Amino acid sequence: MSTTTEVIIVGGGFAGVACARELGRRGIRTLLIDKNSYHQFQPLLYQVAASQIGVSEVTRPLRSIFHRTRNVKVLTAEVASIDLDSHSVTTTDGHTYPGRMLVLANGAEPNFFNTPGAQEHAYPLYSIRDATRLGTALVAALNTANTEPTMEHGVRVVVVGGGPTGVEISGAIAENFKYVVPGYFSPELAEKCSVHLVDMLPNILTPFDDKSKAYAEKQLRKKGVQLKLGSGVTNVTPGSVTFADDTTLPADIVVWAGGLKAGRLIAESGLPLGRGGRVDVSPDLKAPGLQGVYVLGDTANMTDAQGNKLPQLGSCAQQAGKWAAKNIASELTGGGTKPFEYRDKGYMAMIGRGAAVAELGRKRRLVHGPVAFVAWLAVHLVLLSGGRQRASALISWAEDYLSHSRTHVVLGRAD
Ligand SMILES: Cc1cc2nc3c(=O)[nH]c(=O)nc-3n(C[C@H](O)[C@H](O)[C@H](O)COP(=O)(O)OP(=O)(O)OC[C@H]3O[C@@H](n4cnc5c(N)ncnc54)[C@H](O)[C@@H]3O)c2cc1C
Repeated sequence: MSTTTEVIIVGGGFAGVACARELGRRGIRTLLIDKNSYHQFQPLLYQVAASQIGVSEVTRPLRSIFHRTRNVKVLTAEVASIDLDSHSVTTTDGHTYPGRMLVLANGAEPNFFNTPGAQEHAYPLYSIRDATRLGTALVAALNTANTEPTMEHGVRVVVVGGGPTGVEISGAIAENFKYVVPGYFSPELAEKCSVHLVDMLPNILTPFDDKSKAYAEKQLRKKGVQLKLGSGVTNVTPGSVTFADDTTLPADIVVWAGGLKAGRLIAESGLPLGRGGRVDVSPDLKAPGLQGVYVLGDTANMTDAQGNKLPQLGSCAQQAGKWAAKNIASELTGGGTKPFEYRDKGYMAMIGRGAAVAELGRKRRLVHGPVAFVAWLAVHLVLLSGGRQRASALISWAEDYLSHSRTHVVLGRAD
């Protein structure tokens, strides 16, 4: 297989899958390598952690995506190293896979910014494993608080990071405390539980318009989320979070939504690194100064043809994957490459039931409230990979909206 592979893709996320799909459509022999056997849909991980939807709704086996695409082979293996000269990768089991072209689309990992205790005691939210681990910890903490006098303060959650991920998970946990815990446990326990959303910046949702920020803050407060803004986290312990202003919040669970960086594979690749440890790619999505090496999605700092920075978003990664495949197809037949043209669809963040903010399109048309809520659901339904996943997510959302029931079990272990 290896000697005839034209393109090796590392990572079966938004970028890698879109790239492989387009290469497959063009009949180019491709090997897609991912350490997991499935594609995971990060935008809905917070709903898995909040038991709103199930794991099978946000994952899809990579082999099922490509089972009809004969020239795309899927390999489940973790890539340990990259050889930029030979365009080959070596997996942790010692096998080396060479290709004519190499696509690095291996995503990012949580950035704890060397905050003492954060990596050890906080729960990140970047993978299915993270989401099930957090979901399990939340349920376990509620069970303990329901029976143990030592937890008579209820469950105290601190979410670090006021970007879309932090906003979405704090809104979802607060809604669980407000609407689900009274029936599943007791109104008295629900009354005592708390959620704090904290950020070193004075506002949440930094890239959004001021009106969206103000709306989101108001809605979060209405749902019971307390905001602590303008002071960075300096320390995390098993029971608390300390801030630069010398204040401390007690915390039974700390969620880390404080930022992302490119992972070790990229750090050790020898590629020149830019902001967030990512690779500053050229406008045609290639690694600077190298032939036949593309870097996409959350692994790259991408710009458009005018040099504007592009966001770390699923839709951007997906479009970049498809674009890179077209450039690769052109290069393989002796043609040139074109600079990436990103179709900007805007930003969105869910706050909770009936409340979301959206800034649509390049002109950033502001939409708040129920209309943005429905738009958010529609956009994420379209982005989800697989008809079964879409249908199932729709049922879960309807169930949640109509009855606040939580029928999904989390699969992790409290550890
Ligand atoms: C919690 C959360 C919520 C988000 N919400 C939204 C949203 O609402 N809308 C939106 O547009 N975007 C959202 N994003 C951003 C979006 O998910 C990312 O921008 C997008 O997933 C990036 O795609 P990617 O293909 O670059 O990386 P990923 O989707 O992360 O895929 C990387 C893949 O590489 C694999 N991999 C990593 N290392 C290795 C290795 N060494 N060997 C083999 N395989 C490897 C991983 O298993 C993974 O499958 C969210 C992100 C997070 C974390």
